[in-house]
Amino acid sequence: MKKDIKALVDKGEMLPLMEEFYTIQGEGFHKGTAAYFIRVGGCDVGCHWCDVKESWNAELHPPTDIDTIVNNAAKYSKTIVVTGGEPLTWNMDPLTNALKSKGMQLHIETSGAYKLSGTWDWICLSPKKIKLPTEEVYEFAHELKVIIFNKDDFKFAEEQAAKVNKDCILYLQPEWSKREKMIPLLVDYVMENPKWKVSLQTHKYLNIP
Ligand code: SF4
Repeated sequence: MKKDIKALVDKGEMLPLMEEFYTIQGEGFHKGTAAYFIRVGGCDVGCHWCDVKESWNAELHPPTDIDTIVNNAAKYSKTIVVTGGEPLTWNMDPLTNALKSKGMQLHIETSGAYKLSGTWDWICLSPKKIKLPTEEVYEFAHELKVIIFNKDDFKFAEEQAAKVNKDCILYLQPEWSKREKMIPLLVDYVMENPKWKVSLQTHKYLNIP
């Protein structure tokens, strides 16, 4: 990457854009809501079950100036979901300032592994065992979404729930490839521990991105 472009990426004025698309949010609190997704490349968390491994290497995704991203988004929706990759790899302040100036509602999906930047109306924190969230993000999360890949993840979910703020909504979501095995356990767990809710990747059942 050229030096001047790298400097803009480092400041968050350009971002490695993997894809952007208008669809229905499939997961969590806002499931069923039409939203424009901005998927930013770059993630070094390394979840072995990650379903967007092609996002990991930021170098593969073209540095894109935020005005282009904002103008594209403005054609479709007032609700924006910024996802990745791990969007907090980058400084989200310039992007969210620009989107906010257009009156948009901004949601982020993050593992919380890096410093919280940007201005958000909704923070979905999806913590990962191998790179835990920063301490500050628990206070700001609106939604905690823990992916259940195996039985040990219920214990991890409780550890994470003990750290979030009292208003944070708690979700357990089966990892897609394990859904047949984990959904019965997850259903029992939520009935026994009703502070949790079930989240499913409904976009995959709907066969949309
Ligand atoms: S944090 Fe998200 S994008 Fe990164 S490896 Fe894990 S699931 Fe994939």
